Amino acid sequence: MGEMTAHVGRWVLPVNGPPIEDGAVLHDGDRIAAVGPAPEILRGFAGKVRDHGSGAILPGLVNCHTHLEFSALAGKIPPQEHWQEWLQKTLDASAGVTPQVRERGIQQGIAALRNSGAALVGDISNTGESLPHLAASPLAYQLFFECLGFNLVELGPLEETFPFFSASRADANPCISAAAHAPYSVSPALFKAVKRWNRPRKRPQCVHLAESGAEGEFLAQGDGFFKELLQQRGRWVPEFRPPGLSPAAYLHSLSFLGENTLAVHGVWLDNVDCALLSRTRTWVVLCPRANVYTAAGAAPVPELMRAGVPLALGTDSLAGNHDLNLFGEMLWLYQNYPQYPEGLWLRLGTLRGARALQRENDFGSLEPGKKAALGFIPLSGEKDFWEELYTRGAAGEWQWLN
Ligand SMILES: [Zn+2]
Repeated sequence: MGEMTAHVGRWVLPVNGPPIEDGAVLHDGDRIAAVGPAPEILRGFAGKVRDHGSGAILPGLVNCHTHLEFSALAGKIPPQEHWQEWLQKTLDASAGVTPQVRERGIQQGIAALRNSGAALVGDISNTGESLPHLAASPLAYQLFFECLGFNLVELGPLEETFPFFSASRADANPCISAAAHAPYSVSPALFKAVKRWNRPRKRPQCVHLAESGAEGEFLAQGDGFFKELLQQRGRWVPEFRPPGLSPAAYLHSLSFLGENTLAVHGVWLDNVDCALLSRTRTWVVLCPRANVYTAAGAAPVPELMRAGVPLALGTDSLAGNHDLNLFGEMLWLYQNYPQYPEGLWLRLGTLRGARALQRENDFGSLEPGKKAALGFIPLSGEKDFWEELYTRGAAGEWQWLN
């Protein structure tokens, strides 16, 4: 245990409870020891006191969805008008990225996440290249190794098809999960193999769900953009019969939904899908700015909220977003959905995300026993509190408190 430090601020946002005016957080450099009103916390305290003044002390953010491997494409794909064009451009551009450039991108992406306040990230990887960089960084992570294979109609254990799992000793690292890319790129057998790998190890799993309208069309009719894409990439299966189900119902038919599953995007969901996701306690990870950037659309937030679907936040990648700053997503949601409690978006970007990634014991709120992963955002107090917090956070004013 290190020396105790008390951080004092005009506001403390524990997230698991209401904001504390003139609050303090006590930690020993590793774990939080106490949180509460400053006079109470500082009574009889003999350690170091750092008063940060006008602003808010809050827990490090939890970004549930990034693709650090695409960071090298930052600024290369402008915002699009058609999602299909965004995907095609991203696939084309990423094919031209060398491993060295990709690696530098991963490092820059990790630095950007850190600088904007991320304490924990759920990162999707197709190559495993982000793993050593994440493991060496102060950022906590859950690495989702993403499996693709629409044509893998039969397969044995995941390790046989994807050597990453043995090579990285994924079995022994609880921060590694198997992930399925999407309903249009993963065969039913592969969905089952991914689930069979995660389940006994109690690891969270993730999948892109209902990101584009073309996905629903493909599962309903078996044709359209994704059939052409699969043919183009040599993955088409002529025997494929469309299930005639919505993307959410299709995953449910494969027993892939549930409290261990993060369904990312959830743009093209109807009320029946929302009820199903709520009933199965499936997490929906909203990536609102990315969905605008890539022209995917906008997730039906009011319907999701009404149905009681568990929600978390992600930025998605630098091929399809302006930056990896999760405050940007919070600000966007704050501006677009003024009908909800203003602090809700911070909760989604912290405590809910930590719960989705099954790391609630360490992250997501300022509570005794959790990791001392906290930061400070200066506030003038002249504007609406939450608007100023989200705006300054999105502008990169986060400062880590050690
Ligand atoms: Zn994604």
